[in-house]
Amino acid sequence: MTVLPVYNRILVPNTTIYLQREIYRMLAGKDPVENEKIIMLVEKKKQNWDELTDDSFYPIGMTGTISDLSNAEFIIISSGERINIESVRIVSPYNIELNVSRRAETDDLNEEEEKTRLIKMKEHLTAFLSHFQWGAMLQNYMSQWDSIGEIGSMISTWLPNSNEEKYEVLREDSKKLRTDMLEKMIYEYLEIAQLSGEAQNKQEEEYKKVYRKNAIQKQMQYLQEEMEKIDPENVSELQQFEKKVNEAGMNAEAEAEARKIIARLKQEPQASAETGMLYDYLDFLTSLPWKKEEMTAIDLDEAKEVLDSDHFGLKKVKSRIIEQIAVMNLQKKQSGSILLFVGAPGTGKTSICQSIAKALDRKYVRVSLGGARDEADIRGHRRTYIGAMAGRIMNSIHKAGATNPVMVLDEVDKLYASYNGDPASALLEVLDPEQNFSFTDHYMNVPYDLSDVLFICTANTTDTIPEPLLNRMEVIRFNGYSELEKYSIATKHLLPKVMEATGITDSDLAVEEEAMKKIITDFTMEGGVRGLKKRIETLCRKAAVQIAGGREETLTVRAEDLREYLDDKPVTHEHILEKKKPGIVTGLAWTQVGGEILFVETMMTKGSGKIIITGQLGDVMKESAQIAVSLVKSMYPDKAECFKDNDLHIHVPAGAVPKDGPSAGVTLTTALASLVQDKAVSPEIAMTGEVSLRGAVTPIGGLPEKLMAAVRSGIRRVLIPKENEEDLRDVPEEVKDKLTIETVETVEEVLGKTGVL
Ligand code: ADP
Repeated sequence: MTVLPVYNRILVPNTTIYLQREIYRMLAGKDPVENEKIIMLVEKKKQNWDELTDDSFYPIGMTGTISDLSNAEFIIISSGERINIESVRIVSPYNIELNVSRRAETDDLNEEEEKTRLIKMKEHLTAFLSHFQWGAMLQNYMSQWDSIGEIGSMISTWLPNSNEEKYEVLREDSKKLRTDMLEKMIYEYLEIAQLSGEAQNKQEEEYKKVYRKNAIQKQMQYLQEEMEKIDPENVSELQQFEKKVNEAGMNAEAEAEARKIIARLKQEPQASAETGMLYDYLDFLTSLPWKKEEMTAIDLDEAKEVLDSDHFGLKKVKSRIIEQIAVMNLQKKQSGSILLFVGAPGTGKTSICQSIAKALDRKYVRVSLGGARDEADIRGHRRTYIGAMAGRIMNSIHKAGATNPVMVLDEVDKLYASYNGDPASALLEVLDPEQNFSFTDHYMNVPYDLSDVLFICTANTTDTIPEPLLNRMEVIRFNGYSELEKYSIATKHLLPKVMEATGITDSDLAVEEEAMKKIITDFTMEGGVRGLKKRIETLCRKAAVQIAGGREETLTVRAEDLREYLDDKPVTHEHILEKKKPGIVTGLAWTQVGGEILFVETMMTKGSGKIIITGQLGDVMKESAQIAVSLVKSMYPDKAECFKDNDLHIHVPAGAVPKDGPSAGVTLTTALASLVQDKAVSPEIAMTGEVSLRGAVTPIGGLPEKLMAAVRSGIRRVLIPKENEEDLRDVPEEVKDKLTIETVETVEEVLGKTGVL
């Protein structure tokens, strides 16, 4: 008799056990022999023969007979009955001595009931097996299964129950209970198998979905590329944006923001006001220049040549710019100190910036700040606003299409603070090298590096520029041009440029020297050349009509033809007074359009000591008038009385130009002194300077413009504060040649020189 140690199987009496031949050989230590009787012992744990001991088995086993050896792969054992293992002695591997006895059964199974339960179970099994390919094979065997025990024996190795649980079935004496146990185990198994099958199917479905999605995406990408090749216009907008984001070289914040918005737009295929706005935003962000421009060293000589070829004069400005370029070359930086060009309109402030950009081989953009009164002008509106836009700074970077343009901030003196925030403080941030590498426009909401931008500001005056802003800049003054300079600018630059723009050649038109000079002196009144340029343009247009009308010979414009060509009458300058009269003195004033002469008129009338001031006088000038009155009273105590009985009227006539600034102090004092002393001052003398209550003459600004105005108006002698002597260096020689310039330190000196004292 052969003893077979088995593990993890349910042994059920009178059923069929399938066992692979190989396994039989291993367990029995020999080939199977038909009809051989065997005894099956259940191992407590899986062991090899050489590890087995007398104690390795449970106390109940099973008899059996090898009943079928017809299959090459497995053998069939018919199980017999349960036995008690009384004693075990392992002599050597495959050689075991046993003492056994039959174990009694309780035959309490209701056969009818078992049949119905068997049919139900078979139905379940059929349904279950139909999910598996190998299930069909098993179904063939099913017809042979005539008891629940048979099924349990058949599939016992698949059941997930432990070896011990399986042994429990063998140990059970009651046939009914044993069947119940088996039934429970089989149904549990079916349930678990079904669930894991479902889960597996689900998983497979998920995988399939992912594979499918990937495949479709690849397909779409391929088709899209094909479409792009055929019709580049037809690329979907979002895809274009994605491409742009990939290529733009944005900083991390901007890229993240752009991708976030693209993702959002992908989920919102419906067009709405908001998606429209997001498209605009993406468009703006992705078309901004992000990649830094290379720094290239600039040849100073070439730069100088460019500057000289475009602009006449402006020596100081040009050399300061060359210095700046040299520093930038050395520091290998694309920006440097922020220059502020201050001067009257038309003095070339913005146009020289264009030349600077040309000399540096960089883009030029101009941001007009005139009238900006809202922080959003500089920094943009938040995107939550309807119609939100980027501010002027980022807009112009967008326009420039480069990270390092020369950016002209025009008219920084015309910023206004309002309840919507102070544009000047936003501008401070733009110009501050400590902050501007991460300037955040409200609309963009991501930082942008402005540190490579070369900022140049322009203004007509520094008076209205907020102090903190002014401190950040280096002021360069554009003094305005003398008539001689204007003549050179007109003939060398303006006329040729305008003629070229109008399509007129040298053989078509000639402007006589006299005529040009007359345009400058009689038809314009300005520190710069803007009006002059306009006159030249008018002249060229008129000439063009004649030339286009078939005129053959050169058209020569003479001084006397000007009224006809300029279609305008000469401007009236303040001109020196013909007659002198006590109480009237000529002063020099600076205005935003250049210099002017002005007349201070004073008069005493019977009254009660009131002081009446008229003319377009600013507050500062009114204070100067008060000081002048006090000074004169103290200088001429004997005349102080007459201020009591009379009203004093001070008037500064003519010109809609607001006269401000303290520089009329000496003029006012001299006029008053002349009045009380009844001594007239020569109208050929003009003066400028502030006075203190001590009678000292203190310095003033805008001297070059004032002296040019003096020459233009026919003045011969001027008195200027001693402390302004230095400024004479900036005054053109031809102006100085035409004037007798005398410096003064005290009011007495002024009165002495004017013959009032
Ligand atoms: P601003 O900005 O100071 O008001 P612009 O730069 O607009 O003045 O100059 C007005 C015009 O005068 C421009 O056409 C400019 O080319 C010309 N211009 C000004 N100064 C000069 C100069 N020194 N040489 C040649 N052209 C000049």
